Amino acid sequence: MKIGFIGLGRMGTGMAKNLLAAGHTLFLYNRTREKAEALASPAARVVSSPAEAAREADAVFTMLADDHAVAEVTFADGLIEALPRNAIHLSSSTISTALSRRLAEEHGARGRTFVAAPVFGRPEAAAAKKLLVVLAGDPSAIERCRPLADAIGRQTFVAGFEPWQANALKLGGNFMIASMLEAFSEAFALMRRSNIAEQQFLDVMSELFGSPVYKNYGSTIVERRFDPAGFALKLGYKDVRLALEAAAETSTPMPFAGVLRDQLLNALAHGQQDLDWSSIALAAARNAGLSDAKQT
Ligand code: NAP
Repeated sequence: MKIGFIGLGRMGTGMAKNLLAAGHTLFLYNRTREKAEALASPAARVVSSPAEAAREADAVFTMLADDHAVAEVTFADGLIEALPRNAIHLSSSTISTALSRRLAEEHGARGRTFVAAPVFGRPEAAAAKKLLVVLAGDPSAIERCRPLADAIGRQTFVAGFEPWQANALKLGGNFMIASMLEAFSEAFALMRRSNIAEQQFLDVMSELFGSPVYKNYGSTIVERRFDPAGFALKLGYKDVRLALEAAAETSTPMPFAGVLRDQLLNALAHGQQDLDWSSIALAAARNAGLSDAKQT
């Protein structure tokens, strides 16, 4: 297929490489052009605008930072007008359910198709084709998107017929991960206050929960591997904020999400926006009167 790929950040770069490896032809666009040029090849042409990435495509992925970026590229920069009638826009960013509904409506009104395709997995998983891909939208469009999901991930799930349902699922999932990070952060502070090695606690919890997500994030905190970020804390804050918005839209109380928002705000106030979101652990450590230093 001919695929436009817009947004070659930490996640988009790995996803685009795997679409190329699956034999697709790509039109690459990134606001900072050098990131697109790093992937240029005879099968991957760098273009100068989102509209150019869409014009000849069968499908266009957007993997941009947030609602603002997705709306700007889609509406102001002309992706939606340039997209051929039978082509599909797949949005893999973690965006609000409200923007997802708007995208579905505006594409539908112009005879275009919108499929939400958010993903779980960090940049290493994107590079290794190990993402979990969650699709939602019109069933026939979903079937056309399956080979693309297979090319970027290890498993695909279908959340429903309405694109925003995939975004709601993604926000619920990131709320779970953020809750795990905060739970780890508070427990690690308790361990340090109790003269117990964080690593020992992590070893026990890894056995108890048996999940690579616990093990990997736990060791990221123990080893203070917050810089460079795999997932920037400012984007993690965005996701908890969006989960709270989705909660308000559906009258779903999420008291834990309120606590997470405040802990992430604490981290932002301490200049941690570009650190990995697991650095939320520094907030719990500060609250417990502990330094940021690694325990030896
Ligand atoms: P990132 O590395 O910061 O990349 C963000 C991308 O968005 C870059 O290509 C950036 O372009 C572009 N961008 C930002 N604002 C823009 C604007 N106004 N106009 C045009 N382009 C704009 O972020 P990421 O970690 O890849 O995350 C991308 C999305 O995936 C986010 O929605 C995130 O929540 C989600 N996600 C991330 C992870 C993760 O672990 N990292 C996992 C799952 C989902 P420039 O290069 O010019 O800055």
